[in-house]
Parts: sequence; structure tokens; C-alpha cells
Amino acid sequence: MIKKSVLVDDMEHCVVTGSSRVEIHHVFNGPCRKLSEKYHFVIPLRPDWHNMQPYSIHMDQKFDESWKQYAQAYYEEHIGTREDFRREFGKSYL
Ligand SMILES: [Zn+2]
Repeated sequence: MIKKSVLVDDMEHCVVTGSSRVEIHHVFNGPCRKLSEKYHFVIPLRPDWHNMQPYSIHMDQKFDESWKQYAQAYYEEHIGTREDFRREFGKSYL
């Protein structure tokens, strides 16, 4: 279980609801899942906000992209350039 995120201070509570019943979401998944772990691009979400519901981050593309954009902004501020990001993650979300 990943306990550290650079995107939120509190990994124990859902970023949407504040619930303490959380699952850890990788902001970039699929082939980029490892990069999410490397850079600590993870967020805690209550299970219904994580998956299976129409409003969950795995189903709602807008919700998903908003966190991808936030993570990319963090990357560009602290880690590398947009070109570096594109090279690592395959595309830019900004
Ligand atoms: Zn997830």
C-alpha cells in the first residue's frame, strides 16, 4: 500500500468526501502505473468515487483528466519540462 503522495497531504481520507474508507488510485495507470508509483502520483478515494459508479474516477473522464493535469503541473514545476513529461507519459494533458 502506497502511503505517500505528492498531490495530497492526507492519504487516509478521500479527496472528495473526506471518508476514511479509501482505496489508492494511481493517477496514471496502465503502462504508466509504475510512473505513478515512482513520482507518488496517487490519491485516496472512497471506493464508489474510485470505480464502478458513473461519477468515479475510472468512469468519469473529466474527473480523471483533472487529476492528470494536476499531476502534470506538479511534474513541470518540480521534476522536468513538458517535453520530458511527454517522453515519459506518452502525451501531455495540459
Ligand atoms: Zn484507480
